Amino acid sequence: MNSQTSLIAPCGLPPALIARGLVKRFKTGRTHIEVLKSVDFEALHGEVTMVMGPSGSGKSTLIAALSGLLKPDCGQVSAMGEDLWSYRPSKIDRFRLDHCGFIFQGFNLFPALTALQQVEIILKYKGFSRSDAREKAATALTEVGLEMRMNSRPAEMSGGEKQRVAIARAIAKDPQLLFADEPTSALDGENGQVVIKLLQRAAKSFGAAVICVTHDPRLESYADRVIHIEDGRILDDRRVSTGAAPADHSHNQPASAHSERIRA
Ligand code: ADP
Ligand code: MG
Repeated sequence: MNSQTSLIAPCGLPPALIARGLVKRFKTGRTHIEVLKSVDFEALHGEVTMVMGPSGSGKSTLIAALSGLLKPDCGQVSAMGEDLWSYRPSKIDRFRLDHCGFIFQGFNLFPALTALQQVEIILKYKGFSRSDAREKAATALTEVGLEMRMNSRPAEMSGGEKQRVAIARAIAKDPQLLFADEPTSALDGENGQVVIKLLQRAAKSFGAAVICVTHDPRLESYADRVIHIEDGRILDDRRVSTGAAPADHSHNQPASAHSERIRA
């Protein structure tokens, strides 16, 4: 086995996600462009892994290949010990529903639904009863500070609030893999901080492996690990001091994420 696969999370678990040799090509006209060029990647439970790189470097393609959304042309993804791309599409869909949460730049909320319904619907789909879904959805919205906004629809909420609904929807089912693609890009600095701290808390409080791709250097200081990608290749991969918040954020809640719990 490759030495990287012996990485152990702080909680003692093996990596939540291991990818080896990921290649993805897209056909444009007569030529193929190689967007992922043999990418190796791991993410550990309880950590925020930040993938940084300029626009067009392959970040969204990587997250899609890691999460079962887009089949790579070559390579393997072992997610929670399962060889993801060996499964048929319906089983991959089920894996995503059971284990993955997603947060996107554009929030991806249903315009007609209230905040509570946005979260409830996914829990019902996962198989929770109506009453359990409602209770878990309300708990998740409270955890992200939206207890006063449960009955608001997206048009009545700010960007920061909408993204918090998306986070509540993603964490309500206790996913072990949490994927965020540019989650703060549509937000101002202050709301961006709230969002990244919530992701950090998801990693620390229930051991999710958080994979966050961004081109926003302000987020780097919230990561346990920072990976730089450029032109489809990993340039460097470094561990930073356990996700501590930078000093200039001290007017907000301290990132005492290790002891904080967002879930009863
Ligand atoms: P990033 O998220 O870092 O901005 P992407 O992964 O979205 O980068 O895209 C990387 C490159 O792949 C870009 O040049 C983009 O134009 C190209 N690309 C992405 N998706 C497709 C597609 N479906 N068809 C053709 N080219 C694509
Ligand atoms: Mg992108």
